[in-house]
Amino acid sequence: NADGAMYHAKASGRNNYQFFKEAMNQTAARHFELESSLRGALAADEFELYFQPIMDIGTRRLHAMEVLLRWRRGGVELITPDQFIPIIEENGMIVPIGEWVIRQACKQSMAWQSQGMTPVPLAVNLSPRQFMHRGLVESIRGILDDTGIDPALIEFEITETALMQHGEQTLEILGHINAMGIRLSIDDFGTGYSSLAYLKRFPVKKIKIDRAFIKDLEESAEDRAIVAAIIALSDSLQLSVVAEGVETEAQYALLQRHGCQFAQGYLFSQPVPHATAQLLLPRC
Ligand code: C2E
Ligand code: MG
Ligand code: MG
Ligand code: MG
Repeated sequence: NADGAMYHAKASGRNNYQFFKEAMNQTAARHFELESSLRGALAADEFELYFQPIMDIGTRRLHAMEVLLRWRRGGVELITPDQFIPIIEENGMIVPIGEWVIRQACKQSMAWQSQGMTPVPLAVNLSPRQFMHRGLVESIRGILDDTGIDPALIEFEITETALMQHGEQTLEILGHINAMGIRLSIDDFGTGYSSLAYLKRFPVKKIKIDRAFIKDLEESAEDRAIVAAIIALSDSLQLSVVAEGVETEAQYALLQRHGCQFAQGYLFSQPVPHATAQLLLPRC
């Protein structure tokens, strides 16, 4: 009856509300807990670099490696970036932590070189907040000087969204980075609001097609059309193209057929610690 139904709706409404409130509290509590333990994480040396190979599709040889940050919380639990990058991006800690990542990547490259390994370029992610930070160019310059690395062995990955935010200032910063001899690529391409025509204005050398377009490549004619279009346009703008999130041989074959140059994904390797990454490097 009507009363019963009303009672039911109220009861379940209340339960939904309770459930929602608890979930919110848990998320907020987790956020708070992570944020406070993140404060001492850099000083406690709890961050680690992981490396994921980027392969040349034509030769199936190693082309470069992407540097991916991991947080060894309390020295034990391994935490991935999606759980903590948004927090440090919001509170500004990304600036010193991001600087540490760049420095550490350069040091690692130099260490490999001194052990007789042939270096490959390391691609380091730059978040919007890092990119906006006034001291960025100076801090990169300092790191290049301190470590003595060849700037051609460093690349920065920036998302479209980060690039589109700041008009003229963006061009200026990119110009400085480019002038230092560091290459730039556009990360997660296709998920933001830019267009390749617009990117022509930027001194960018490479674009990385977001894994959202690769995931269903075999089943989706639409995704295949999008990927083919991105590759064709990049070719005509003389940009290199990396496909992200390549997990199957079938995806690999399709990308090869469409003329994509580089691929990154679990098909080749997950991101691995430096000791494992080192085994992938050829010796001089
Ligand atoms: P991203 O730069 O787009 O990095 C690629 C992400 O895709 C990595 O996640 C990688 O592990 C994952 N991935 C690679 N291949 C596959 C695949 O075949 N399948 C699937 N499902 N995933 C794959 P990760 O390491 O969790 O990093 C997530 C994001 O966090 C990165 O996305 C990047 O935006 C950010 N990030 C990571 N390290 C840093 C850093 O040092 N600084 C900054 N600012 N951001 C970072
Ligand atoms: Mg990236
Ligand atoms: Mg990406
Ligand atoms: Mg991403």
